[in-house]
Amino acid sequence: MARKYLIETFGCQMNVHDSERMAGLLEQAGFEATDDARDADVVVINTCSVRERAEEKLYTRLGELRVLAAEHGHDPIVAVAGCVAQQEGERLLRRAPGVADVIVGTQAIRRLPMLVEAARTRPAAGPGTRRPAAIDLTAYDDVTWPLGVTRREDPVKAYVTIIEGCNEFCSFCVVPYTRGHERMRPQADILAEVREAVASGRREVQLLGQIVNHYRAPDDPRCDFAGLLEAVHAVDGVERIRFASPHPRHVDDRLLAAMARLPRVCRHLHLPVQSGSSRVLTAMRRRYTREQYLDLVDRLRAALPEVALSTDMIVGFPGETAADFEATLSLTAAVGFHSMFSFKYSARPNTLAAQRLPDDVPETEKTARIVALQALQRQIQTALNARLVGQEVAVLVDAASRRRETELSGRTSTNVVVNLPGPPAWIGRTVTVRVERAGPHSVWGQAVRPSPAAV
Ligand code: SF4
Repeated sequence: MARKYLIETFGCQMNVHDSERMAGLLEQAGFEATDDARDADVVVINTCSVRERAEEKLYTRLGELRVLAAEHGHDPIVAVAGCVAQQEGERLLRRAPGVADVIVGTQAIRRLPMLVEAARTRPAAGPGTRRPAAIDLTAYDDVTWPLGVTRREDPVKAYVTIIEGCNEFCSFCVVPYTRGHERMRPQADILAEVREAVASGRREVQLLGQIVNHYRAPDDPRCDFAGLLEAVHAVDGVERIRFASPHPRHVDDRLLAAMARLPRVCRHLHLPVQSGSSRVLTAMRRRYTREQYLDLVDRLRAALPEVALSTDMIVGFPGETAADFEATLSLTAAVGFHSMFSFKYSARPNTLAAQRLPDDVPETEKTARIVALQALQRQIQTALNARLVGQEVAVLVDAASRRRETELSGRTSTNVVVNLPGPPAWIGRTVTVRVERAGPHSVWGQAVRPSPAAV
């Protein structure tokens, strides 16, 4: 009987994609997927350390797996991957002894099957003791990835990594320490993976990188991110292209012109701003001011009037005053983001802010600020979505609704989630939908006749 694996993923799209890669590697090694830890021979927890809460979830889950072993006698190999694995390494085992059999760093995931095998076959030091963990936290520079190995979760969208790591060192961010310095994938590898994704039926390609718009092809010095968009756009069968995330300071006129010129590049840009106060942005080492960000938004809208913007925002950064927070609120209102990921600041290990800046905004104040920001953002989203009522929009259907069997969901080019009734056979098709009703997080509508059933 084939051995089984389960991968649990926390965090960003990068982690989701790394999990797809690890799943493919384990399947190549003869494992089959299961969604039940009680049935799994290997449980991989792919972790995130961008927020403190995400890190705590790892320890909770590791404890649950040990209870499973103690109470049900089922004792799978437990592998910890992702940013916490890289950041904590062996400290993880000191904090919670015996909880993991494998620790695999972010740049070493290709070695997962070998590490699992090493952990499985190592003898325990003595009766009642656990086998020693197999650990690889090496910073491998190689960013090539074998074609055909990734086990893509999504039937409609394909993630394709174009850059690994980050050199920006924003003062709050742990990513440069957990994912290493910036490494670009060759353009030829990226295009081969895009072709493979399209050949396997994916309609949308999502290009991933910590700073996606910093891309320079190592195999073609003339190819920057705008050039890569052109090349991906030219691949037959690519219906939509998205990318995440660009850094505002690297958005240039070439990128704006490429987006305007290439119709299959979605009219949505996730443009993390992090704060509306120039003073706080300086302390965050973001290297742009509020005014420069707003100017960029104006240029973007001039080039692409229909573009929708989303962002990331941190409240309660060290030294953030009431006036700084007011600046965040006023920038939020001025831009009118279609969506926002907002967080209370928490100091992350190794970062400049954790080492040099006192975490001096009281927790109650951080909570009050995030509640106020999210209330404002909700109003903005509700109003923006309400404008769609009565309009016809093109929706790439990507999933069946979790709530009702007959309901589907998909997204517009501007990344608005649209719910509609329809059969699962529509998944993967682009449907014209007349919007009838809107809420803060999504809209509802009906497919316009002739329905895609006849297509
Ligand atoms: S750009 Fe800044 S926030 Fe984004 S990954 Fe790099 S260091 Fe982190």
